[in-house]
Amino acid sequence: MDKNAFLEKVREGTELIKMHIELGHTIRIVSHRDADGITAGAILAKALAREGADFHLSIVKQLGEDILKELAEEKQKIYVFSDLGSGSIKLIENYLKDASVVIADHHPPEDSEIEQENHILVNPTQFGADSVRDLSGSGVAYFVAKAINEKNKDLSYLALVGAVGDMQEIDGQFHGMNLDIIEDAKSLDLIELRKELRLFGRETRTLAQMLAYASNPELPGITGDLRNAIEFLRSKDFDPDMKYWQLKEEEKRKLHDALVIHLIKNNASKEDIDRLIGDVVLIKLYPEGDPRHEAREFATLLNATGRLNMGTLGVAICLGDEKSFKEALKLVDEYKREQIEMRRYLIQNWNSVIEKEHAYIFYAGKNIKDTMVGIAATMAINSQLANPEKPVIVLADSEENGLVKGSARTTKRGIEKGYDLGEALRKAAEILGGEGGGHAIAAGIRIPKDKVDEFAELIDKLLGEQNSSGGGHEN
Ligand code: C5P
Ligand code: C5P
Ligand code: C5P
Ligand code: C5P
Ligand code: ZN
Repeated sequence: MDKNAFLEKVREGTELIKMHIELGHTIRIVSHRDADGITAGAILAKALAREGADFHLSIVKQLGEDILKELAEEKQKIYVFSDLGSGSIKLIENYLKDASVVIADHHPPEDSEIEQENHILVNPTQFGADSVRDLSGSGVAYFVAKAINEKNKDLSYLALVGAVGDMQEIDGQFHGMNLDIIEDAKSLDLIELRKELRLFGRETRTLAQMLAYASNPELPGITGDLRNAIEFLRSKDFDPDMKYWQLKEEEKRKLHDALVIHLIKNNASKEDIDRLIGDVVLIKLYPEGDPRHEAREFATLLNATGRLNMGTLGVAICLGDEKSFKEALKLVDEYKREQIEMRRYLIQNWNSVIEKEHAYIFYAGKNIKDTMVGIAATMAINSQLANPEKPVIVLADSEENGLVKGSARTTKRGIEKGYDLGEALRKAAEILGGEGGGHAIAAGIRIPKDKVDEFAELIDKLLGEQNSSGGGHEN
């Protein structure tokens, strides 16, 4: 990617924000409610507070017309959108035409030019970045914060928590401008980057739990079976009640070797073996055993708050608030428990999936929460219910009446076949009435409930048109 051109765009956006700070205007920040968006919001809030600026921050589920209407009524002079907005350029222009706007985002933008003079899109995908690996929303926010003031380099570790929350290092290593953030964080001795086991639970889970609840990748015969996990660990002379962080370096290596051998024996894919051990970000501000010490556990804590519409609690945690942290700890256990139940539900009910040539469509009604469908789609792939080349879309009844929320996920192999889920869902929503969009590998949609069957036909057709290998589908 062209870093310098991107950083030039960052400077342009930052100048606009600085001008409004000098004029004494309230900087109105709106960010996305997942770990990436929450850390992005926290980074911007902290940077503005340091400048003595007035700001007002909201964490939202998505940027729909309803929210833009409300924002317009506030009549602010400047709005900053982070980790969202690129899919709503036209809507933003319509509703906020009299205000300054900075969209600091990493989602592939809708294909329309910004016409409004005082609206600036700061988005690395316009300079050749891959939206799901080279920079996250929190990373974009970080570069803006750093352009506001160099001392905001000390917020670099938060940008990395957001990047991990978005699974930017899902293949086991960081890429693109995430590497520059790592350098910043290392230069201030804020983090340590290690090659370790990437499964969830380094700080707070016992080894038995860490293995039994492994989902990314799954461990054949061990995931979902605590007894087998304990037995596996004992047979290799590990205490199943120890935590990963408590292991000596040589013990970690021994565990890695045993797990890799286990995967190989079970014919796991090369991708899964490669990503089992890889980049792990440790945050030195927090002690070992604290979930905030490791970026994945930190991000999961934030995701747990956002999912319950308590994103601002997550922001407070990022800003170091201990009371908010203690409150959120309770939410994580529940969040993880729900994921385990959901996996069981998926496996038991997968026979009702609609399998098309180019997609699996699984409608879960009220059995899966609409905030969990993305994780469900990932699980269907990781647990080998779905062929990894064929996109999975899980739908559930939405909190909003009459709508269903869907999440689509695929893999590198799906991308290689030409699928672009963000593009396909954006088109499907346009046709069916709703909103959809996102990355090529991960995207979301909301449509009227009575359109689910029509959606299944339509999405198969749209994905078929993208599928370069043809697969016998007529255009
Ligand atoms: O469904 P989810 O909460 O993940 O949606 C958040 C995303 O929705 C944001 O990235 C935002 O860009 C996008 N979105 C949008 N325009 C809409 C609705 C959602 O850009 N009208
Ligand atoms: O796919 P998406 O980022 O929406 O997933 C949200 C979060 O849920 C991820 O950041 C990841 O940490 C978590 N997750 C998980 N187990 C899975 C899939 C996702 O803990 N199987
Ligand atoms: O909202 P947004 O950009 O922040 O989230 C990115 C989404 O893409 C997450 O749900 C993440 O889990 C998903 N992802 C994925 N596969 C990848 C990279 C990201 O499903 N290889
Ligand atoms: O909603 P879900 O987690 O499945 O979204 C996957 C990705 O697609 C996220 O990055 C989300 O922000 C994005 N998205 C979007 N526009 C939508 C819905 C989701 O950009 N309308
Ligand atoms: Zn993001």
